[in-house]
Amino acid sequence: MKKYTLLLFILVFLIFCSKKEDNIKLNPVEENTGKNINIIFLIGDGMGLAQITAARTINNDQLNILRCKNIGIQSTHAADKYITDSGASVTAMACGQKTNYYTIGVDVNGNPITSILELAEEHGLSTGLITTSHIVDATPAAFYAHQDDRFQYEQIALELIFKDVEFFLGGGQKYFDQRTDGLNLIDSLISFGYLVVQSLDQLYGNNKAAIFIAEDKPLKYLEGRGDVLSNSVTVAIARLKENKDGFFLMVEGAQIDWACEDNDQEYLLAEMLDFDRAVGKALDFAEEDGNTLVIITGDHETGGYALLDGDLTANTVEGGFMTIQHTGSLVPVFAYGPGSEEFTGIYENTEFFYKFKEYFGF
Ligand SMILES: [Zn+2]
Repeated sequence: MKKYTLLLFILVFLIFCSKKEDNIKLNPVEENTGKNINIIFLIGDGMGLAQITAARTINNDQLNILRCKNIGIQSTHAADKYITDSGASVTAMACGQKTNYYTIGVDVNGNPITSILELAEEHGLSTGLITTSHIVDATPAAFYAHQDDRFQYEQIALELIFKDVEFFLGGGQKYFDQRTDGLNLIDSLISFGYLVVQSLDQLYGNNKAAIFIAEDKPLKYLEGRGDVLSNSVTVAIARLKENKDGFFLMVEGAQIDWACEDNDQEYLLAEMLDFDRAVGKALDFAEEDGNTLVIITGDHETGGYALLDGDLTANTVEGGFMTIQHTGSLVPVFAYGPGSEEFTGIYENTEFFYKFKEYFGF
């Protein structure tokens, strides 16, 4: 068994070396443009208009999301299904192609397709991924992994360690250090120059940072997760903006979806307000920076959530759910900053990739 583990480690190391060479070819120094153009892409998983309306109502009619002046609408269906999963819809946004249900980062034939995060890395920008789910779950994974089965978490973890993402935060440490193949990918991350920690307070220096906030799924906000989502946006931006070529940062409010699947409004509203605080941090930076495009959207609606009654004085809402599944309705897109006017209108979720590419000038 030990020999087998050692052989696997050597194999991983060799793959790493070959990838590094690829990166060198793709990242010639002359590509350092110093353009300092940034995109912060915030995805409220399962977030439709009713979820936003409810959060606004209980929060005195105010949300950071509503600071955006350019509003669009996107269509989320998968290539092979009217109602999408996060794998297919986030792949469409990240890579620009409609694909099949339960796949990530591959086309309808199972061939890998390049994401905007991978393009950003190739062009010398810094990248970051933040989620309140585990870091190998479909939404973050669609930006860096290529699997025809989104539940291959150990494979997905193996893909992440080679991607050179400068900052990532989420749960799922067990897919790195308690693996069926016996590999310890935490050791690999450290050997690849990462600082690996379990909370934002433990960060120091300016190495690449991997923050695992849970062995498996992170806590709900109501269970005491704290403000790690909004705080991590501030910390990630401070680190990523050091790269004068710019950065791409994806932030996911993952448990909006889980709350709707549980048909639990109290859980939903806590996750919505937590996500909105993260949006606020991104918008504050964009306002000050002037070179940052911020996009906020959902990957689909979840729960068929509808508002049945409410009280604007008491700041209360009474909502109901149609289903414990995702639904097929169009979802809103909120855009802020230079280029945000490109995100108005009604379009397919594949458009994000092309609009992002154009904004970066790739
Ligand atoms: Zn989703």
